[in-house]
Amino acid sequence: LQERTINVETEMNRIVTRIRDEGNFEKVIDPDSALRKEIMDIGERYGRIIVLDSESSVVIDTYDTIASGTYYQRAEISEFIEKNIDRTTNYLEEEERLQSFASIKLLDSDESMGIVILTASTEDITDIVTELSNQAILLFFIILILVSSFSYYFADIITRPFKVFVKSIKEVSKGHYDENIDISANLEIEEIATEFNLMTDRLEEIDTSRQEFVSNVSHELKTPLTSIKVLAESLLSQKELPVEMYVEFLEDISKEIEREDKIINDLLSLVKVDKNESVLNIEKVCINDLLELLLKRLSPIASRRNIEIIYESNRKVLAEVDEVKLSLAFTNLIENAIKYNNDNGKVKVILDSNHKNFTLIVEDTGVGIPDELKDKIFERFYRVDKARSRDTGGTGLGLAITKNTVLSHKGNIKVENNDNSVGTRFIINMPIFSEFKKI
Ligand code: ADP
Repeated sequence: LQERTINVETEMNRIVTRIRDEGNFEKVIDPDSALRKEIMDIGERYGRIIVLDSESSVVIDTYDTIASGTYYQRAEISEFIEKNIDRTTNYLEEEERLQSFASIKLLDSDESMGIVILTASTEDITDIVTELSNQAILLFFIILILVSSFSYYFADIITRPFKVFVKSIKEVSKGHYDENIDISANLEIEEIATEFNLMTDRLEEIDTSRQEFVSNVSHELKTPLTSIKVLAESLLSQKELPVEMYVEFLEDISKEIEREDKIINDLLSLVKVDKNESVLNIEKVCINDLLELLLKRLSPIASRRNIEIIYESNRKVLAEVDEVKLSLAFTNLIENAIKYNNDNGKVKVILDSNHKNFTLIVEDTGVGIPDELKDKIFERFYRVDKARSRDTGGTGLGLAITKNTVLSHKGNIKVENNDNSVGTRFIINMPIFSEFKKI
């Protein structure tokens, strides 16, 4: 529209200049003149040109050539004359046309020879605009449909792995820990799937170990009870037994009750020493004094089998630990070193430290532990030699308690063969300063 306006005004300027240069309308009226032809030509191209003289009489009307000489009056013409301006162009939207007025003013004078009116149709422009808006609407809908379909398609692709996750999580919460996710999606989702699978594997492990533990506990608790039952029944079934037999059987029953009591106590200790730091009662403890006290308590059992206990302490160790739990852990180790030792053997307890950690080594000259079982002995109820362990009053829970205590103190425990491969060496490493607050 702007371009059309500029064109119209350029043509108007040309016509006005030509007529003004002529100084009269003779050339405009002359049917053979170039100027008239030019005006007719422009009129045809744009729509209509009317030239009025100063009396508002038509000099030429390209639409109606016989109108020449007639009086032509319109409100917009009067308005233009009244404004006394050189030119104006208006866009008449409803009529779909441009109307341009130009006054033919003589040079150096305000006097006007007449007016040129050019009416140019803008229908073609409106048609193009309508056509374009129709196409734009169509395009908009096509794009909308395409975008919606793509969004739907991609949303489905993106959410598909999550649906798999939701399904698997539901399965896991039902207790199916063997659930595994096999997804080939983007890297992050595959990473989550791998972590999820590791978690379910771990849950499965925990579940299996829990089941094993329950069945082991039931078995261990039942064994002394069965013995008690058998012993009691055999006493009842035989009449007039000598008193010595009663005493002997009752002694056996008492031993079984003691064993049952020990298993229950060990189980309770194990439950208490879980890896949860909040159950620790942290205090500053002199480990040297603690060890000396424990060795004093255990020395009668050692001397019964002529086992020598050697204690080496390289420096004084003051550590922040739970004294009760650590006493039990250390006792288990030293007691084992005596229990699984040979008569006339040796037990060496060595305490050392640096600025951060302290180390306790308990080594013996006993039966030793086969390499392939070195990890297993820390499992609950695991015993290398069941009969021997039972004879010595073992429950198979001692090392599990020790390991859990050490872990709860953020330490570590390992087992290795004693030098020259006779006997075993347990090494505990533990931080001197507790990270936990005193409770
Ligand atoms: P237990 O009550 O049977 O002693 P533990 O958990 O303390 O249970 O030990 C588990 C098993 O590890 C024992 O039954 C024994 O076979 C083995 N064991 C532990 N300490 C020693 C050691 N110092 N020498 C040889 N074997 C050991």
